[in-house]
Amino acid sequence: MNTYTRIIDLALGILYPKRCVACDKVLLKIEKEVGFCRHCQPKIRLAGDTACMKCGAPLTDSRKEYCSTCSKIHHYYNQNKAIYVYENEMRNAMYRFKYSNKRCYGKVFAAHAAKMYGGWIKKNKIEAIIPVPMYKKKEKRRGYNQAEVFAKALSKETGLPLANKIIRRDSDTVVMKQLNGLKRKKNLLNAFSLQENVVQFRKVLIVDDIYTTGTTLDEVTKVLKKGGTKEVFGMTVCIGQVQ
Ligand SMILES: [Zn+2]
Ligand SMILES: [Zn+2]
Repeated sequence: MNTYTRIIDLALGILYPKRCVACDKVLLKIEKEVGFCRHCQPKIRLAGDTACMKCGAPLTDSRKEYCSTCSKIHHYYNQNKAIYVYENEMRNAMYRFKYSNKRCYGKVFAAHAAKMYGGWIKKNKIEAIIPVPMYKKKEKRRGYNQAEVFAKALSKETGLPLANKIIRRDSDTVVMKQLNGLKRKKNLLNAFSLQENVVQFRKVLIVDDIYTTGTTLDEVTKVLKKGGTKEVFGMTVCIGQVQ
């Protein structure tokens, strides 16, 4: 083995997780490319093809086009896609991605996202990737914004530019999971602002870690459309199961 290949090996070892994204056990060399160990691979549920046409949540009834929520509520964004179903091991994985400095997961998520939705990204002529911003003080305290970590990896994977300076989060919002739908909306009202008068991208992809009610995506969409963006798509690492 010459020096060059050894450095490549080392680089891959750093960039890809050494431990399974789902169960955190040490990965075998062959499993490292996937990011999940062979025990977890069959257990991880992808949001998949039988999904709501709007939010991307998996549907149990394949004859339906929309989930129960999206058939009632108007969303401002065009369409959202998710990679995994937010359940069991993926819940723990998302916790580590957010709070335990497991930024290396971003690359695994981006590789899966590109495989599943690369065609969809091209078809919709998306021009840039925008991570949902975090309140600056909070980002400093935490050390990083997990949505941005995923967005950066997806930008590398797809070749699309990362536009992380267009929107700013102006208020530190209360922990969202403790709030119901209406309170969530109020909590996010005017939470985001545009940093440029005119957004140069007509079609963008907003990237976040988890899709819950779609309120965040809707609010970011409203702000971007004020700046002239025509179509706003979403991509989240996880989404819950709805009926
Ligand atoms: Zn595992
Ligand atoms: Zn839906």
